[in-house]
Amino acid sequence: MWPFLLIFFWGAALSSECGAKEYKIAIDIGHSQSVPGALSARGVPEYQFNKQVATLLLQKLLQDKRFKGSFIINEKGGAISLAARAALANRQGAALFISIHHDSVEPKDLSHWLYQGENRAYCDKFTGHSIFYSEENGDPLHSLIFAIILGSEMLRQGFCPTLHHAEKFTGGDKDLIDKTRGIYKYNKLVVLKNTKMPAILFECGIIKNRSEELKVSSHKYQNKIVKVLIDAINIFYAK
Ligand SMILES: [Zn+2]
Repeated sequence: MWPFLLIFFWGAALSSECGAKEYKIAIDIGHSQSVPGALSARGVPEYQFNKQVATLLLQKLLQDKRFKGSFIINEKGGAISLAARAALANRQGAALFISIHHDSVEPKDLSHWLYQGENRAYCDKFTGHSIFYSEENGDPLHSLIFAIILGSEMLRQGFCPTLHHAEKFTGGDKDLIDKTRGIYKYNKLVVLKNTKMPAILFECGIIKNRSEELKVSSHKYQNKIVKVLIDAINIFYAK
């Protein structure tokens, strides 16, 4: 029931912005070239996956004149702090902040295999996406509403969320708040907490999973994920 109440408040809260025609979406590529995040089951750095999806998302957004001011925060992949990412989005007047990531698992869930002669860590137990928001964000209500819309669109397109963060995210500032849509509250996550506009962090899939890694590497899958993101953004800004 509660998602429907939130959608009601979303409409009411956005009504003052009805005259606005353009929305800058700030896209954050999770991690950087030098600190590239998780390693996939085949040893590919997470940053590469994040960059592919973020770049495709920007290309698609720029095809719609309402989103022509959209931008990637760390396009060149240089070192930039989490606080600086949020500050840049704030300075640029972004309307929505989306941080793109690909997921890993806890060390206890890892197994090992030989891939092309290298010993690599993997975990085939978990699959799926997850969505994070912070109640300490400058606009937590709309952050949550966007998370609900995105989670709903992912379900509608046949994606299933992973619940494997639920062990780590239990109570207090970290919590799994919507099992169906895979939405987690993570209040202290810097890029979400320091941004003034609605913000979410999206884990597109789990690259420690050997088959999911192959899926998220494919252009077809990346296009599908980006289409869902675009659909969610369009719903969020629908009149
Ligand atoms: Zn990451």
